[in-house]
Amino acid sequence: MSLLKQWRDMAYDESANKGDLQRMWADYFEKEKNIYKELLQNPDDVVTGTVKGLAEKYGIDLMTMVGFLDGINDSLKTPNPIEEMDEDTEVSLDFDKESLFKNMVAAGAEWLYGLEEWEPIFDEETRKRLYQEQKMSGTVKKGRKIYPNDPCPCGSGKKYKKCHGKNGANRYEA
Ligand SMILES: [Zn+2]
Repeated sequence: MSLLKQWRDMAYDESANKGDLQRMWADYFEKEKNIYKELLQNPDDVVTGTVKGLAEKYGIDLMTMVGFLDGINDSLKTPNPIEEMDEDTEVSLDFDKESLFKNMVAAGAEWLYGLEEWEPIFDEETRKRLYQEQKMSGTVKKGRKIYPNDPCPCGSGKKYKKCHGKNGANRYEA
């Protein structure tokens, strides 16, 4: 079975124990946010390596790295062969900045497109414009469904409904 299929079978298995799945995703979101923070601090450095090598670099397990590669793939200048990759496949995290920002908006992930690491990359005006362009396009990026009582993906420790799920992700609206 491919790594991607293993990850998706595990991460999107709605028949799994709800608590286990919730913990897995809380842990995933925290690691994902930390990798994005690191990438955005040096947005012009192209990070490459094997799937296993990048997991080691970021101090995460292989499956979390596979999930990350699944999530970032649409934002890359050249997509990785995520369907068929194994742990020794060379991959790149050479992301397109606008596309990454917009995909974070499309996923409703304010805890990612709102990261302060974006500020030196795009000024506020640009972030607002990209946000609006994305919203106007009507594209929604499907990811993990977050339930109101799940821990908020931002890592605040609050329930989603009390944190970023409160009024939806609306940082650049109104
Ligand atoms: Zn939050």
